[in-house]
Amino acid sequence: MTGRHLTKSRYLAGLQCLRRLWRLVNDPPDYEDPPAGSPAEAGQEVGRKAHLLFPGGVLVEDEPWQHLEAMARTAALMADASVPAIFEAAFEHAGVRIRADVLERLPGGTWGLREVKSSSGVKDHYIDDLAVQAFVLNGAGVPLSSAQLLHVDTGYVRGADGICWPEFFARVDLDQEVATLLPDTPGRLPALRQCLWAAEPPAAEPGGQCGSPVACEFWDDCTAGKPEDWIRYLPRLSERRRTELAALGIESIAAIPPDFPLSAKQAIIRDATASGKPFVAPDLARLLGRFGPPAQYLDFEAMMPVIPLYAGTRPYQALPFQWSLHTLGADGSLGHREFLAESGVDPRRAFAKTLITALADSDLPIIVYSTYEHSRLKDLAAFFPDLRPALDAIIARLADLLPVVRGAVYHPEFGFSNSIKAVAPALCPGFGYDDLEEVADGAMASAAFVRLASGAIPPGEEVNRLRDALLAYCQRDTLAMVEAHRGLLKLVGRH
Ligand code: SF4
Repeated sequence: MTGRHLTKSRYLAGLQCLRRLWRLVNDPPDYEDPPAGSPAEAGQEVGRKAHLLFPGGVLVEDEPWQHLEAMARTAALMADASVPAIFEAAFEHAGVRIRADVLERLPGGTWGLREVKSSSGVKDHYIDDLAVQAFVLNGAGVPLSSAQLLHVDTGYVRGADGICWPEFFARVDLDQEVATLLPDTPGRLPALRQCLWAAEPPAAEPGGQCGSPVACEFWDDCTAGKPEDWIRYLPRLSERRRTELAALGIESIAAIPPDFPLSAKQAIIRDATASGKPFVAPDLARLLGRFGPPAQYLDFEAMMPVIPLYAGTRPYQALPFQWSLHTLGADGSLGHREFLAESGVDPRRAFAKTLITALADSDLPIIVYSTYEHSRLKDLAAFFPDLRPALDAIIARLADLLPVVRGAVYHPEFGFSNSIKAVAPALCPGFGYDDLEEVADGAMASAAFVRLASGAIPPGEEVNRLRDALLAYCQRDTLAMVEAHRGLLKLVGRH
């Protein structure tokens, strides 16, 4: 704990939820480095690369708990006219401590505040972020003449010679927006300070604030006492309806009265939850008619690296690197093929060509679960004109099972989700992902491949282990589709 000061991040946490602020200060979760290859880790790298836009800038290296030393170092650097910019500049005013990402020396003895984000644009809470910093800088007597956000420019294309960092970042002037918000800042501080010193955390009902602007780390604790079928899990329930249910003292989906106004889908979920019996639409058999078997089941994994890894690619561009394909025969036989790109080269062409080859000898329906594969195939067809006819032919065979599940089936074990990871185990008891550890979801798969592709891991055991984990995960996802499909067929009496 760095003491009971307000800081920039605590100020922002308090604006989101006072309980979150209290917990962060008085009962903080253990700090964990962001997982290797994750967007959070890439965000830290983006912050460091922004320094390259300010040649000659000097970093204040003191740690967060050395704030007084950091302030002294900042003052010394400001007094040295040869220093054009200060990174992690430290200030305090009215009990609020900040470390500014970049403080840029400007003509006329003034300074520019630069906040660096790895996002693709300006978000509302960034203005709060800049405004509280401007409040502290003004109070500390720093003549501030400009406030800018540096964010990632998703239109930037990496060249053959690597990243051009000044072009990678977009610089957005936010002077006007910060000036508008600045007068509100001091008035918010007393309530935040009071919360900071309270003996007990303030009460707060979990709600919309818990996920915005960031996903609160205390969600599990705050919702531990809620029923398993808490009304907040009912999809698309409006705030108005939630309030009405709260006024009736109803917290469980199963307890929602039959005459309470719900959408058709919400009523289906309520009824299935209350009865424990699945809902099956009368036309499910007809809807499944075009899905076979025989059929093929296709799933992609892709990464979206914020810092482009390959020439010709953009920040956050989706780059598919792996596919898995199961084939279910009319006789129930199951076959499997797969592809995982080599790291070090743009995976897209090998991905597309191997997929075309794997699918060329069949005209079976290709079952997917969401529009994701369709979108990636469209991207590839646009990027490789010579492969376009073959990729368009694959697109024409896609059959999306998700809308069928969403519209015609609800099983109490779905857990209010239509995700394949919820649907397959519900329709096929015993099936699951629990034995997968290193790669168990799409985000972990993306992070694993970014680690491989960025050369962060030397060749050897760990590379082989990660590649095996990626293959096992993607194969499991297409097997999940097979099992979900089989489960749906059972519901309509087809085995
Ligand atoms: S989970 Fe929600 S209510 Fe609980 S501390 Fe976080 S933001 Fe506040």
